[in-house]
Amino acid sequence: MPATGKIFNIQKFSINDGPGIRTTVFFKGCPLSCRWCSNPESQNRNAAIADAMADETYCGREVTVEEVMAEVRKDMPFYEESGGGMTLSGGEVLQQMDFAIALIEAARAENIHVAVETTGYTPPERFRRFAPLPDLYLFDFKHYDREMHHQGTGVYNDIILENLRAAVATGREVIARIPVIPGFNTGLLRARGMAQALVDAGVRTVHLLPFHQFGEKKYEELGVPYEYKGVKQLHPEVLGRYRQEFVDRGLLCSFK
Ligand code: SF4
Repeated sequence: MPATGKIFNIQKFSINDGPGIRTTVFFKGCPLSCRWCSNPESQNRNAAIADAMADETYCGREVTVEEVMAEVRKDMPFYEESGGGMTLSGGEVLQQMDFAIALIEAARAENIHVAVETTGYTPPERFRRFAPLPDLYLFDFKHYDREMHHQGTGVYNDIILENLRAAVATGREVIARIPVIPGFNTGLLRARGMAQALVDAGVRTVHLLPFHQFGEKKYEELGVPYEYKGVKQLHPEVLGRYRQEFVDRGLLCSFK
């Protein structure tokens, strides 16, 4: 039986999901429920609301490794030219670990660079098996404080931090990605806490992803309440001071 997985999108010519030009495969299903999530259709692998909609974007579709690789392969010249490759994103890749491993091995066999964007939320004993496989981690980090993390995402951050340290220990490139969310992890005190937690975990590079309203329309379409409706983007000066806290602690920090 070929390994199959459930995805909700394959995005070509991605330029924000790792180096170069990439094909990003979005896995369906996420164990977190971030209140600001811009991909609410990704959250539940078999979401009743999403499955009630006819659109494949919301329902997801079951695919084989070969079906995904056939799409990924089409852009080989662009990967070679730009230093790009394939990115696995979500949702949460680690929820479909066997499928993710099969995809990584297939890409590796064709010398395609693989980045994995992950929340890191999976039991550490499972993560140890996966940890050395990707070339690059884009490792989400949402809050250093475990109670705040729970309030914002529905889960505690203990195993996320443990898995982050395990990813760093593999020697693979690890970039921490912080969604900068008004009222949740903003403010200079929190920036210091975030930066220090990443330094302690051995991370050296951080991408800041300022809050945006790209997901608002999806909530309307899904008929799901959206807590961040009307919340404004952060001012560039505020974001600049936020970033400086990371730079001051020796981290390479940029906006994405
Ligand atoms: S981890 Fe990402 S996909 Fe999952 S709920 Fe949070 S923002 Fe959405």
